[in-house]
Amino acid sequence: MNKRDAQKFEARLIEERKRCLKELGQLENEELMINQKEASGDLSSYSFHMADQGSDTMEREKNVFLVSSKGNDLYEIDQALLRIKDSKYGSCLHCGKEIERERLEAMPHARLCIKCRQEEEKESRNNRHGESLISDRV
Ligand SMILES: [Zn+2]
Repeated sequence: MNKRDAQKFEARLIEERKRCLKELGQLENEELMINQKEASGDLSSYSFHMADQGSDTMEREKNVFLVSSKGNDLYEIDQALLRIKDSKYGSCLHCGKEIERERLEAMPHARLCIKCRQEEEKESRNNRHGESLISDRV
């Protein structure tokens, strides 16, 4: 992937990151942090503050539940931004091949190519299937 394309995806990832944070209700804090990082030009020190949120235990447990999927998106986005910085962006983390361009357009934080992703999904579906069989009986 050339630099110009990587920059294009980087801009999209930063937008997605903001949207994600907004959904998590943390935009204000985090944006302040991003602005500070951007000012110093240091993307590598992006940090992941989920665990710091919420002072009381109930609140924290609720937050953990709410952010588990969004928080994971955010993590993937951060990882993709770090890969751009290391010039590794756009390669499948599993097989090392270039990730299909359409796939990156649809999901800029994709870390696996379509083939590896499908295999991963197949595995997790099998696992979920096992669990649901049990809960159906309960
Ligand atoms: Zn792959």
